[in-house]
Amino acid sequence: MSNENYRYDTQRIHAGYDSDNHFHAVNTPIYQTAAFDLGDIDRARRLWSGAEAGGIYTRVGNPTVTVLEDRIKDLDGGSAAIGLASGMAAITYTIFLLAENGGNIIAASSLYGAAQEAFANFYPKFGIKTKFVKNRNDVSEYESLIDADTRAIYLESISNPNAEIYDFEAIAQIAHKHHVPLVVDNTIATSFLFKPFEHGADIIVYSATKGLSGHGNTIAGLVVESGKFDYTRERFPHFHEKSYKIRDVDGNERTPIEAAPDAPVTTALRSFYLEFIGASLSAFDAYLVLAGLSTISERLTKQVATTKKLVEYLESKPEVTWVRYPSARNSPYAELADKYFPDGAGAVFSFGFGGTREQFKQFISELKIFSYHVNIGDVRSLIVNSPETTHAELSPSDQKLADIPQELVRISVGLEDVRDLIQDLESAFRAVFIK
Ligand SMILES: *Cc1c(COP(=O)(O)O)cnc(C)c1O
Repeated sequence: MSNENYRYDTQRIHAGYDSDNHFHAVNTPIYQTAAFDLGDIDRARRLWSGAEAGGIYTRVGNPTVTVLEDRIKDLDGGSAAIGLASGMAAITYTIFLLAENGGNIIAASSLYGAAQEAFANFYPKFGIKTKFVKNRNDVSEYESLIDADTRAIYLESISNPNAEIYDFEAIAQIAHKHHVPLVVDNTIATSFLFKPFEHGADIIVYSATKGLSGHGNTIAGLVVESGKFDYTRERFPHFHEKSYKIRDVDGNERTPIEAAPDAPVTTALRSFYLEFIGASLSAFDAYLVLAGLSTISERLTKQVATTKKLVEYLESKPEVTWVRYPSARNSPYAELADKYFPDGAGAVFSFGFGGTREQFKQFISELKIFSYHVNIGDVRSLIVNSPETTHAELSPSDQKLADIPQELVRISVGLEDVRDLIQDLESAFRAVFIK
């Protein structure tokens, strides 16, 4: 089932699955197998050319993963999606593919810690340099960094940990003026809160480890493409290179664009990156993401409501020096949040702890519900000192660029009763500050 006319809440449960094709199982089965019968010689030929869809070998595709890919594609309104072993695999594969043979990237300087570090120091080892945008809402800075070899502008739809929001439509316009695609990491928002393709994005990457699956029990990633971007020969010569790897059923070499005019990115990712590097999503992990996805709307709705209440509570505490979330007082992102996130700007935010390091240590140890670990989008609420954990890879100057001051504390809001969460914070504040 892939009826684009159904609404989000119906698609998140049904899209991409027809029980007639799965022995009438109502729940998506876990196809725990490495390989699939090819049938006969002619069928094998059709499978290899993509003329017939079907399983060959789980490194490059698996029916459980296919259901997830089709569902995510429909939820985002894209043309195709590919499941990968982690969010970092999704990001790295996408960047490597776009930047093959000498490309560079323009990225906001406020990324998820591992992504920021990879763009800054790891991708350059493979010849891929990133130019970071410092004033992330200054559209002219993005444009001034574009050159003949720029292959993508890269942003997070809601930044981690400060919940920054950018003017996507203005940035997309600049990108498209120069035939550069806009890649958006939509992990924190998820397609429930934000649909990047409706605001000019061309490729979406996800860590499905977070809100999409929502239960902190799997590592998974996804790449979705809109099918609308024109990868020109000038900027993307490798999308116009013929390869026997993506031949047609008669054995003629094809380019990624010839093989899949509306899905060249996911086709190239599957044919080359999954084939040769192989960070495949397992059937079991795809199953867990599908199970979590079926309650995404209820989870995110409650998490956003709880987040707003926690922000309000923390703003009332004298021990809290600032709170960063679009609904917080004086947030510079309130207006952009109204425009792009009418249903809420996610459930991750940061605040400044107005005490000493010793007091902060005690504060963390007093908390009984909030757990101290590095994840987000879990059913459990969690709290972490980003400068020394999630963003510890960044040098002090990169932390400054990403706006991660030493007193920053990040919260990811789960599904507990908000009254208990507030009480937990209140008891910890009292234990530390009222002697
Ligand atoms: C966690 C995260 C990633 C990385 O995803 P993994 O599944 O852990 O590899 C990428 N981007 C954002 C915004 C994240 O929160």
